[in-house]
Formats: sequence, C-alpha cells, structure tokens
Amino acid sequence: MIIIMLGAPGTGKGTIAGLLEGKLGFKQVSTGDIFRKNIQKQTELGKLANSYMEKGNLVPDDVTIKIVEDRLEQPDVQNGIILDGFPRTVAQAEALDKILEGKGKKIDMVLNLTTPEEEIIERVVSRRVCSNPECKTIYNVIMNPPKQEGICDKCGSELIQRKDDNEETIKTRIATYMEQTSPLVEYYKNQGILKTEEVSQRINRLAKDVADDIESEITC
Ligand code: ADP
Ligand code: ZN
Repeated sequence: MIIIMLGAPGTGKGTIAGLLEGKLGFKQVSTGDIFRKNIQKQTELGKLANSYMEKGNLVPDDVTIKIVEDRLEQPDVQNGIILDGFPRTVAQAEALDKILEGKGKKIDMVLNLTTPEEEIIERVVSRRVCSNPECKTIYNVIMNPPKQEGICDKCGSELIQRKDDNEETIKTRIATYMEQTSPLVEYYKNQGILKTEEVSQRINRLAKDVADDIESEITC
C-alpha cells in the first residue's frame, strides 16, 4: 500500500503519518526528516538542503527525487509506505509515477490535509519535536504539551523547536506550498485517488480523528 501525505506545512502530515505507521505498520518516510538528519550529521546533502530549508524554499527536484528513488528500494518499505512531504512539485509527482510504474506499483491514496492559515501559523510556532531521531514525536506547547516541560513523554529526550518553525519562515513555506505544491491537488484529483480532510480546531477535528477514520477505511 502506498499513501501520500499532501498539505501545506503545519496541517498535520507528520503527525498523521506517524499515527498511521503505528496503526497500519506501513513505514513513514519523510523527506524533511531525511534532510534534517543530514543537516545534523553535517553531510554534503545536509549542507545543500539547509541552504534551501532555512529560507523556506524547496530543495531542488533532482536531489529530492534521487533520495526517494533510493529509499523505495529498501526492504522495509516493500509492504507499505506513507510518503510524508513528497511529492511537493508536479515534476516530483511525475517522477514518482514513473518510478512506481517501473516497479508495477501505484499510489493507493493521497491524503490531502487542509487547515485555515491563521491556525497553521499558530500551530507551527508552538510546535516542538522530540530530538531523538528514532522517536520524533510531535508536541504543541498549547494544544498538546508534554507532561514535563521540554521532555518527550515517550522516550525522555529533549524537545526542540525546528529552525524553520518561526513566523517569518512559515509564511514563506506557505507561499511555496501555494505556488509549487498546491497544483498536486488537481493532479491527484484527476487520477481519482485524492481524499481531502480538514484538520482544524475550528471544526474540532484533530490529527488523531483523521488517523482513526483513515485506519477504519483501510482496514474495513
Ligand atoms: P513542513 O511540511 O512542515 O514544511 P517538512 O519536514 O515536510 O515540513 O519539510 C521541511 C522542509 O524540507 C521544506 O520546507 C523543504 O525545504 C524541505 N523539503 C521537504 N520535502 C521536500 C520535497 N519533497 N521537495 C523539496 N523540498 C523538500
Ligand atoms: Zn521522544
């Protein structure tokens, strides 16, 4: 099973992908996490990715596509994968279709998440993430705080704020989404595999509600 998480930054892609990984056993693969790991290790890829990410711009397609293509070869994703943050451009989506076609596979579902912009900004600036790369649990100091301030409930590691989770960069990231990623909504709607879900306090529908519904839809 191949699931794609689509949506502007801060709509809950990572949270829902993590919940679905736990429920369904399909591997969550986040291109953002792959880049952040490389930044932490100060690899050449990390240096390159950081120069784009810190400004809220996208890492170039050729670099990103190659990473996903290699990742799709690994044994742990052969049963199922939840692609979180990829594709993000039409060129990436077309490349993915081609790669999958070569493997005789196809995308089963594209989960398109929407959240009102004011809520995204609020959510992103109060987001904290577990610094343990094996855990990466996502918290929110207002909506979903850890039991002990600054410490992950699950693994006890320190919580950190992503460098790009500030008001200025999130505005650029939303603009980047509108320009380069939002055309994918139409792209996948035309393929008949798009499922749109609003994740918002406004309608009292949170990431876990969406994850529960998707789980029942898939397992029923
Ligand atoms: P968010 O969706 O909250 O922005 P991500 O972790 O998915 O968080 O992405 C963080 C940053 O990593 C993006 O702003 C972009 O610079 C880079 N990135 C992640 N995925 C891609 C991709 N598929 N193509 C290009 N850049 C990407
Ligand atoms: Zn943790």
